Amino acid sequence: MAKSIFTKILDGEIPGDILFEDEVCFAIKDINPQAPIHILIIPKKPVEKVSDAESDDKEMLGHLLLVSKAIANEQGLDDNYRLIINNGAKAGQSVFHIHVHLLGGRSLNWPPG
Ligand code: 5GP
Repeated sequence: MAKSIFTKILDGEIPGDILFEDEVCFAIKDINPQAPIHILIIPKKPVEKVSDAESDDKEMLGHLLLVSKAIANEQGLDDNYRLIINNGAKAGQSVFHIHVHLLGGRSLNWPPG
């Protein structure tokens, strides 16, 4: 599988503002933010989308949510933020490497588009 744009950022091949990194995942600021705070939490394992995940990925998927929570707290978002995972092109996914969007810093409407 070709390297995703996110793996290229992780590997330093293209620029990206890496805010957090551990052995399982890393976080970057979204290049086209949809809210004052828009951060992407990405597993190092290049699974394309949630529907491709397997039972072995259980710990990694849970880890992404806990790291998202920690980053939200660090950003001062406490209990007002949204976590989104788009799965598939028709659901708005444009980069095929699982990522959690952390959005906050403004009021968020529901339902999303
Ligand atoms: P998706 O549409 O797949 O759910 O989200 C992909 C996100 O990646 C988009 O919000 C888009 O702005 C962001 N993105 C795409 N290319 C880059 C890039 O080169 N750098 C960063 N930091 N974000 C990117």
